[in-house]
Amino acid sequence: MRVLICGGGVVGASIAYFLSCRGIKATIIERTGLACAASGKAGGFLALDWCDGTALEGLARRSFLLHARLARELGGDWDYRRLTTYGGSAGLGRRAGAWRTHWVSPHVSLDRRLGSIETTAQVHPAKFTMAMMQAAQARGAELRFGQVTGILLRGGGAVARGVKVDGETIEGDAVVIAMGPWSILAAEWLPLPDVYGLKGHSLVFETGIQTAQALFLECREPGGVEAPELFARPDGTTYVCGISDHSPLPFDPGEVSPDPDAIRRLKKMCAALSPVLATAKLVARQACYRPITRDGLPLIGQVPGVMRAYTATGHSVWGILNAPATGEAMAELISDGAAQTVDLSAFDPGRFPPSGRRTNRRD
Ligand SMILES: Cc1cc2nc3c(=O)[nH]c(=O)nc-3n(C[C@H](O)[C@H](O)[C@H](O)COP(=O)(O)OP(=O)(O)OC[C@H]3O[C@@H](n4cnc5c(N)ncnc54)[C@H](O)[C@@H]3O)c2cc1C
Repeated sequence: MRVLICGGGVVGASIAYFLSCRGIKATIIERTGLACAASGKAGGFLALDWCDGTALEGLARRSFLLHARLARELGGDWDYRRLTTYGGSAGLGRRAGAWRTHWVSPHVSLDRRLGSIETTAQVHPAKFTMAMMQAAQARGAELRFGQVTGILLRGGGAVARGVKVDGETIEGDAVVIAMGPWSILAAEWLPLPDVYGLKGHSLVFETGIQTAQALFLECREPGGVEAPELFARPDGTTYVCGISDHSPLPFDPGEVSPDPDAIRRLKKMCAALSPVLATAKLVARQACYRPITRDGLPLIGQVPGVMRAYTATGHSVWGILNAPATGEAMAELISDGAAQTVDLSAFDPGRFPPSGRRTNRRD
């Protein structure tokens, strides 16, 4: 069996890995570069129980466990470690918090402990995605570069049998759409609901901070309250993200670029929050789009009405966390016809009417 996976982000790479573990040949087709989009530019923060009480609870809990297991069993290094996580604020007039950390200004009040080393962790998302791809390749998976431009359908449009890549057709036994926010393109090829992209900005500083801490802050900005997230990483860098906007998603993932004004505001915010960030060397200024759906839940499962066509996208702010359990469940679904480890019913791509963009119904 050969499964064609469109998109080399963390979700595509995780599906390839878990398929390969079952002896199924996976081919990832990636347009621009492995982990070139949100999967390379995310924070990489993981939480065991932050999705509790929502439809994501089972997926998130399973995935938190799988992250720990993969870090133990695969032997690669993608900076997995457990963290202590605090919440707090600056300039909002709240009273001083009970916690302190040496790398933020005294006026930042850390008033909540949001997670412990039992419940929160981190990975370097680009290194994790690449490690999953390498582990899949070591088990027989293949990575090809090219732009997927359509799906090969047989049986009057009822069965997916391949993909069109740069004018060539690649045949396979199943097709998975895992192109993050660019999965919206697949709504022209298959009866799928739309997926949207929400742009976020981030900075990476060389700080030398080794403390295993994540901070979720709120701070006063001229235009309102912003919520930057700060993650110290084991490689001595510190990642900060914040400032989302609704700029349209470029058709080409290689054309995503940060907005200079958003970067300037984020830098200013960082300098006000931390004397260490104020003077540290800036090693990356970046932007990426997280994939979102109308109800905020991912689309994971079979494409309605088209046999052997699947999708896994729309993971929003939890794609790095939830990629392993998504990959595992998708491998079960594709090879056995049903997922056992996670209940995917809330993520059924058939829960919305399709977008109506579809143009190539048959081939
Ligand atoms: C600022 C920010 C911070 C975040 N922080 C966290 C975090 O701390 N923890 C967490 O769990 N999640 C986080 N997320 C969310 C997470 O990054 C995403 O949910 C996740 O990366 C989505 O992965 P993906 O594989 O679905 O999509 P993507 O990473 O977008 O990958 C899609 C891939 O498809 C490729 N592609 C596109 N079109 C085509 C085509 N036509 N043919 C072939 N390939 C194509 C693209 O080049 C790309 O490589 C964050 C997101 C943002 C924006």
